[in-house]
Order: sequence, then C-alpha cells, then structure tokens
Amino acid sequence: METESPQRRARVMEQHLETWEPSSPIALQTLRIEENIKGAAHHLDATFSCPRRYWLEHVRGWATEPFLLPNTAVEPAAPRWWPLPTTFGLMMHRVLEIGLRNPRSFGPSTPHLDASWMHESEDELSSSITVGRVMNEFGFGMEQEEGSREAALRDRLLHLGDLIDRGLLGRWVRGETLNGWKVEAVRTELPFFHREHIVRQTESDGQPVSFRLENGASVERVNMDFSGRADLVLALVDDAGRGALQVIDLKTRGCLASFNDKKTGDGHPLQHVPPSEISTVPQSDDETQILHEHRLQLALYSMALEAMEARKPPAQRRTILPPALLLGANGRIVQLSEKAFDVAKGDLLSHLDWRATVHLDPASDEPTRLPAGSSHCGDCPFYKGDLRRCGPEGESLGFISHLDVEP
Ligand code: SF4
Repeated sequence: METESPQRRARVMEQHLETWEPSSPIALQTLRIEENIKGAAHHLDATFSCPRRYWLEHVRGWATEPFLLPNTAVEPAAPRWWPLPTTFGLMMHRVLEIGLRNPRSFGPSTPHLDASWMHESEDELSSSITVGRVMNEFGFGMEQEEGSREAALRDRLLHLGDLIDRGLLGRWVRGETLNGWKVEAVRTELPFFHREHIVRQTESDGQPVSFRLENGASVERVNMDFSGRADLVLALVDDAGRGALQVIDLKTRGCLASFNDKKTGDGHPLQHVPPSEISTVPQSDDETQILHEHRLQLALYSMALEAMEARKPPAQRRTILPPALLLGANGRIVQLSEKAFDVAKGDLLSHLDWRATVHLDPASDEPTRLPAGSSHCGDCPFYKGDLRRCGPEGESLGFISHLDVEP
C-alpha cells in the first residue's frame, strides 16, 4: 500500500483550502441561559418599602449587621429581664408547633391530605406541660423559681397561649364552625421551596425579551428561589363542603416589656382588641399596620402553596385563602382581604422583577434614601449601630458619637 509523506498531505490540504468556498455563512447561535437568585421571604417587605436596602446589600456588598465598634460600652450591660425578641419569638413558635391541637376531622368530600397532616395533638397551648417542655428546650429547665425572670417568661408563654386558646384559632381547633369555616387539620412548620420565574416579554406580541446579552449569552429567564417554613397552615372546609388551605404566620410584637398582663388598656396597642373578637378583619390601626408590614411575605408563602396545589390533579386541589397573621399579643387572627392579597401578589412580582434587574444590570440606578422622617429606617441595619451608613433624606451620616456632638 502506497503511503503519502506528510509534505504531500500538507500540499493536498493547502490546494483544497485555496479552492474551497463555504456554501453559506455559519450562523452563530446565541447561548440562552437562566440565572438563579436566592432570597429570604422575611426580607421582602422591608426591601419593597426601601429598595435601597436591597441595593446596598447586593450591589455595594454591605454587611447587613449594624456596624458596632468593639468594646465601646462603658459598663457591661445589665442582665435583661426578658430574653431577646428573636429568642422569645422562637419559643412562642415552638409552643405553637408542639401544643396546637390537630382536629383531624374531615368533611366527606374535601380533597385528601397526606400523612404529614395526621399527627396527633390533643393539647392546649396554655398547657404547663407544653410550656415546660419549651422552657427546658431553651435551657430554662423544667421548673422555675417563683419570682425569677425564668418564671416570668414561663408565665408570659402560658398567658399568650391562653389568649390564642380563647381566640378564633383555639376555638377552631376545638371543632367549632366560625366565620363559615371549620378547621379539618393543622400543619405547623410546613417546609416549602418556591421558584418564581421572571420572564420579560414585548408588549406587542409577547415575545421573550432578554434580561442581558453578554459574550454571546442571553439571560432569558431569572429564577427567584425561596425556601423556608410556613409557621402554620390550616386545612379548612366551608359550609358548602369545599376544602381550602390558609397560611398563618405568628407574630410576637408587643408580647414582652410593653405587654400588660393585668390591664390590657395600659399595655401594647395590639392588646386593645380582645381575643373574643373573632372577625378576621383588622379592628385597630395597629392590627392594620402589622398586617400591611408583612403582606409580601404572606403572599409569597401563599403563592408557594398555590404552586404545590397546582401540581395536584384538579379534583385533589384546595382553594388557597388569603393569608393571615396570628397575633400573640391578643390571640387574634387578622387576614388580608381578597383585594389586598391580589395587590400584594402584584407588588411582590414587580419587586422580584426589579431585584432581577439589580442583579443583571450593574449600571441600574441607585435607589434614593427614604424621605425625611421615614419610620422604616429605624429598623434598618444600615441606620443602626455606631456607624450610620444610611438614613432618611437630610440626616447626617457617620459615627454616631461624632454626630452627637455636632451643633
Ligand atoms: S437607612 Fe433608610 S433609606 Fe437607608 S437603606 Fe435603610 S431604610 Fe433605606
């Protein structure tokens, strides 16, 4: 067999390339990609109220802890009578988790619920066994010395549990039909993962619009991912036998130092409406305010539930009711109206769209500071601490000690 030398093969290749003409230009294909962005449900309302807060964290990369100078305290802080609000909130959530009765009483035609709804619980929230167990889990022992801080904490948990037991939720789980609904079962700490797809389309013909075109890659879709646990989900049945689910989030605002266990009128404003009021419509400005402050978080939990139900066959789906808050300070449930729920969902989607822009367009506009006197800044980590890194329009920024001596 005759073999060709390398030189001969190179000459043949050269002649071929000189005479070769491509029949048509090669079309360059754009790489279509998706971006995944994680978020925390409990930050949604704060960053919707002040987009700058999100921008400072994700574009500037600022730490979201208040800036504190080391060892600036003149004296060690005195022991606190009450635990930190976050610790107390966790304790109260735990009381709800292990102490809430599960009716497990189903209507004849409501969609089936899986085994995670079938746990047995016949207790009451104001049970000394439940509260004792929670006290022990948090390191306060099974028994507390009367007159001590630990005993006051135990009694506060028992008191708040009693308010919830006497309110709408407590009566519902004992089997009463109220406001046209009966609770069939409860599920606490329901885990969820929710992915909201953000896609841009042209208004004229609904064609997808790219978020960003870079190096031949086009970001066609952004996935906003949220995971967590919903405090409480109720499975309900109405007078007509229709099944529904409702997300409820427990809030412990006003349950510690400002709470008055003897005279509610002298306590936190949320105490002014009693647990015996079973209407889920807010009955005071403070109830309206706290519900409004958490509506996006509630909307996200409910949208996660809607997505879970949508994956089931139609006959096994339950309606998702507008979400609600359970107020520890008065044991009441306050619920978003249908209209407020729709508005919250729309605001949530537009906020997620804005967040997607912030991540994909580094040149997006810097959001301005909130107007002077804004109440949102007081809770903001960029405002708190020894260094005021941001604040309402017009307020000086810098080290607090320096600001104090300014004329
Ligand atoms: S300090 Fe106020 S204006 Fe600045 S990021 Fe925080 S909430 Fe927004």
